[in-house]
Amino acid sequence: MAAKTLNLADIYQAKKRISPIVRTTPLMKSDALSVPSEGDVYLKLEFLQDPGAFKVRGAANKILSLPPSEKERGVITFSTGNHGLCVCWVAQKAGVKAIVCVSERVAKLSPRRVEAMRFLGAEVVIGGDSQDKAGERACELASSKGLTMIHPFDDPHVIAGQGTIGLEILEDLPDVANVLVPLSGGGLVSGIALAMKTANPGIRVIGVSIENAPVMYESVKAGHPVEVEEVDSLAESLLGGIGRDNQYTLRMVKDYVDDIVLVSENDIKNALAFTLKTHHWLLEGAGVAGIAALLNKKTKVEGPTAVVLSGANCEAESVLKIVNPECGDRESEHY
Ligand SMILES: *Cc1c(COP(=O)(O)O)cnc(C)c1O
Repeated sequence: MAAKTLNLADIYQAKKRISPIVRTTPLMKSDALSVPSEGDVYLKLEFLQDPGAFKVRGAANKILSLPPSEKERGVITFSTGNHGLCVCWVAQKAGVKAIVCVSERVAKLSPRRVEAMRFLGAEVVIGGDSQDKAGERACELASSKGLTMIHPFDDPHVIAGQGTIGLEILEDLPDVANVLVPLSGGGLVSGIALAMKTANPGIRVIGVSIENAPVMYESVKAGHPVEVEEVDSLAESLLGGIGRDNQYTLRMVKDYVDDIVLVSENDIKNALAFTLKTHHWLLEGAGVAGIAALLNKKTKVEGPTAVVLSGANCEAESVLKIVNPECGDRESEHY
């Protein structure tokens, strides 16, 4: 089956579809990040979405566009991060049953996540010793129960949903020259880039990935999806692959994204500290990837620049320890 080509009309349709449940977030100038000779910097506060991350947009566009028969049967996913949480949140609002498959490891490490998903009315199925196993389980259940799988990034409705962020930035800052976007599977940057490049091909779209998971960066270089060995990161929402049979985001990133820059764990740590101390926002590591790139001059920006702050789902205590190790235990000193 040939992959559908997305266009700006899909993003406008998404905007209309999701507006009853998804917040339009503020775009706020950051005096601290603005450099008089280079340009002003504006922050897009996507962490203010009710479930704490932008992924609610894609999840809402996907779930709300399902035909009644699919809504009736329910949806399934296997992400334990922001995607899983956002799917549960939207499903509850839409009166659709949701199942999330979670590995035993994650259930043990993040009991609060499991609790939060159950609190939103989702059924959490725990089993398997890895994320891959949880994924296989979800696929089995999807076909045996006729449930619709909600992909975290490689789905046209999901990408169009994330693209609504691009429309909002253009509306608030018509002369925007650059946009910095955290990048993992690429749904977020693909949607935003489609919206903004269609409006003005001169806008520079920069994806920001982590050195610990440069999967899209390596895949674009290779011209096909590559796998990178998984290591931990302070920006755990940016871990994970792009899928061996990637249909949409690799091609869209190649077509629309001007540059992908990589930030280190130390860059993320400094950006978390900066954001907390300067703006008094406690974000998750992935949420500050764009700030990390700016502070560490990973890319040259001239003119008005928008930075997407993508999420804030984290344990406050662990971020405070990372930012200020003296206040934490000795374990966090190596950051
Ligand atoms: C998922 C996520 C990203 C990356 O989005 P992709 O569409 O996978 O590139 C960035 N930040 C946060 C907080 C996320 O949850």
